[in-house]
Amino acid sequence: MNKGRKNRPLTIPLSIPVLGGQELHYLQQAIVSNWVSSEGPFVTDFERALERYLGGGHAVATVNGTAALHVALRVAGVGPGSLVLLPGLTFAATANAVIYCGARPVFLDVDPDTWTIDPKEVGRFLTEECKRDNKQFVHRASGDRPRAIVPVHLLGHPSDMTPLFHWARSYQLSIIEDSCESLGATYKGVPTGRLGDMACLSFNGNKTVTCGGGGMVICRDNEVARRIRHLTTQAKAHPTEYIHDAVGFNYRLTNLQAAVGLAQMEQLPKFLERKQVLATRYEEGFRDLKELLPAPRAGWAKPSYWLYTLRWRGARPGAVRRLVTFLARQGIQARCLWRPLPDLPIYPEAIAHPIPVCERLYQECVSLPSTPNLIANDQDRVIEAVSRFVIRERKTSR
Ligand SMILES: *Cc1c(COP(=O)(O)O)cnc(C)c1O
Repeated sequence: MNKGRKNRPLTIPLSIPVLGGQELHYLQQAIVSNWVSSEGPFVTDFERALERYLGGGHAVATVNGTAALHVALRVAGVGPGSLVLLPGLTFAATANAVIYCGARPVFLDVDPDTWTIDPKEVGRFLTEECKRDNKQFVHRASGDRPRAIVPVHLLGHPSDMTPLFHWARSYQLSIIEDSCESLGATYKGVPTGRLGDMACLSFNGNKTVTCGGGGMVICRDNEVARRIRHLTTQAKAHPTEYIHDAVGFNYRLTNLQAAVGLAQMEQLPKFLERKQVLATRYEEGFRDLKELLPAPRAGWAKPSYWLYTLRWRGARPGAVRRLVTFLARQGIQARCLWRPLPDLPIYPEAIAHPIPVCERLYQECVSLPSTPNLIANDQDRVIEAVSRFVIRERKTSR
């Protein structure tokens, strides 16, 4: 709720929730009704709201986006001996979900124009590093089986799906969209979340729509949705006896969280509109600085601009990090991108490839304040501070 200047914190945050709708009212209803846990009408209402927004599909709410990825991969048959193709540049949760399944991530480079998985790299891996062996399709070096591609619609920009569909069809791979950052974005007019066999959403506190914490799996098939619901509720095989037919998970969203989520969904069109306005204003604000490239927007894409992210072309090593510190001193919260995942020591089982584009973007990109109710005055402060730093850097580098 925007209470005006007087109560405005001094800092300009990167991205905070805007709880300006029916959140409190719905939460109160949930509490008064005594339905607080994962049974309860708001969970179903929240799932229906997502299905309506996405124009179809079956939605199963989960406790967070990471759990959604884990269970989606499991249902796609990903397990020990499986390979999952994903971009080297994403939040760690995408790769962690692969590891939870006992499978191995294959980190691939991203496209410099969209910052999402490069379909050419996918094709190269499948055609050059894999082969058919006794009718099975396997990775030559390890004998493991490629099972799924997880395109991550990074920062709200959709991945280029058409060539990925081609590769998935050719080699019977599942496509599981990591749409945790892209609610509201469309690819060739189709919402992200409705493109793959399954898609995973996040409603973490910093995402476009929040439940506090929460997630969702969207799938095409009703039977798949039933299996996901079953696995996320401890795989109970009997309504009253403690009989389980699988090792399930306690991954369901609670009614309290869903109450907040439903209220947030009602405001999604407004949030997206505001993020679009912020993106346009950032683009205009930096137009005269040729080294600052606007956030990506492919011809076939309508991005959701989850976090507006600039690319400072040719930024010297460490310059973006110094910019972030410079902004912090003025009460402006900005962020570097994720460290490319193969550079972390935590995925020794991964199949790594050179990822020069990921490395370059990591060095050159900075995410700027993107809260939907960021006021123009504050955004101008951000634009002015970033510009001042970049111009100063020009002079010292001569
Ligand atoms: C936020 C996020 C996740 C994980 O979602 P949580 O709800 O925080 O578990 C996964 N992948 C990406 C790309 C994300 O940004």
